[in-house]
Amino acid sequence: MHDFHYKNGELHCEGVPLSKIAAKHGTPAYVYSHTTIRSHFQKLDQALAALDHTICYAVKANSNLAVLRTIAKLGGGFDVVSKGEIERVVAAGGDHNRCLFAGVGKTEREIEFALHLGIHAFNAESEPELERINAAAKRLKKTAPISVRVNPNVDAKTHAKITTGTYENKFGIAFEQVKKVYAKAAKMSHLQIKGVQMHIGSQLTTAEPFEGAVKKLIPLVKDLKKRYGIKFFSIGGGLGIVYEPALESGNLTWWKKKEAASILTPQSYAERIVPMLEPLGLEILIEPGRFIAGNAGVLITRVEYVKRTGKKNFTIVDAAMNDLIRPAFYDAHHDIVALTKKGDTRINTDVVGPICEAGDYFCKDRPLQKVKEGDYLALLSAGAYSFVMASNYNSRPKPTEIMVKEKQFSIVRGRESAAELWSQEKVPSWLK
Ligand SMILES: *Cc1c(COP(=O)(O)O)cnc(C)c1O
Repeated sequence: MHDFHYKNGELHCEGVPLSKIAAKHGTPAYVYSHTTIRSHFQKLDQALAALDHTICYAVKANSNLAVLRTIAKLGGGFDVVSKGEIERVVAAGGDHNRCLFAGVGKTEREIEFALHLGIHAFNAESEPELERINAAAKRLKKTAPISVRVNPNVDAKTHAKITTGTYENKFGIAFEQVKKVYAKAAKMSHLQIKGVQMHIGSQLTTAEPFEGAVKKLIPLVKDLKKRYGIKFFSIGGGLGIVYEPALESGNLTWWKKKEAASILTPQSYAERIVPMLEPLGLEILIEPGRFIAGNAGVLITRVEYVKRTGKKNFTIVDAAMNDLIRPAFYDAHHDIVALTKKGDTRINTDVVGPICEAGDYFCKDRPLQKVKEGDYLALLSAGAYSFVMASNYNSRPKPTEIMVKEKQFSIVRGRESAAELWSQEKVPSWLK
């Protein structure tokens, strides 16, 4: 569910017509619905109510301070993967003690930073990392709270670039070796074993892989509780969202119907896993990113040219792959709709950006409402892994970000200026 809908032929985010935002703040622009973020969080929270649980939002999905602030106010924790993300959480008024620090490549500097500040736990992904954390804690005369990421070798059946829970991946410690690794960690002087973690992949659209992985880990988790008194079991993130409702009719009511029938909801997810987790008597952490933010954002863009070649139609817009790389990177589908509905004529078109790369497209040969120069389009489901992956390729300033709450909207990140793009660059004196 989300709060983007047509009213009198105008696409609205909550109570605000997106064309009003486009007119006031220009394009390309990301627009986020505060209410959608909140309701996704609360739906998951309610579905897991039977468990002692904490939702640790995966910051990497959308790390805008206003988004993090929204999560903090809802009582969420945070799943972070870098020092920068911890600093963002703190800057947004979140609690560093509620941060879970994941990632296979934590540097010494990052570990020391997290130890100084205090975090919920490091999710360690290898033995050398445990040794490094232990040594850093010893140097700083601290005790490091840790959990180990277990790779359960379960295929999440999702896109290859977002599958993380099989032995083909760099993530976590193989299931068969985990007990040995915990035994080693227990002998390290400056570690405190706090929990165990898994995360099998992203954009999962059925509950089976989650169920399979949890089932596989339960005996291990019980054993770890008995031996080391672990306090939490983090089951990772990965809940998928509906990207592709085949919105050819441009009718968002139909979108919602499709979504209602979709396979993975917080309820269907919880029904499968809560009965297995409840008897453990542990705090259950869950690390959703996409589920919270994905359908809470759109990218709005202006049509610059409509170009017809002999064979094809191209709609050239002012957003590009540097703003939203998911189609190029993950073959991702984003529904594209006009901000203002006009008639029912549809033509097949590619929607492309201005960048000189064949990969700079948002869709190919898709039947879309006929548009002309100056019209606006919205790329839907662009709340997660979208702005955060934006780059300045082609010296394009990153788009502005706007958050809507009911009838109010505010810039939550200003549009970059050209001068900011080279503010860190210098011409050496010997070139002058
Ligand atoms: C990316 C990531 C998540 C979030 O994944 P989503 O698919 O966005 O829910 C959670 N935990 C870890 C360790 C991650 O790397």
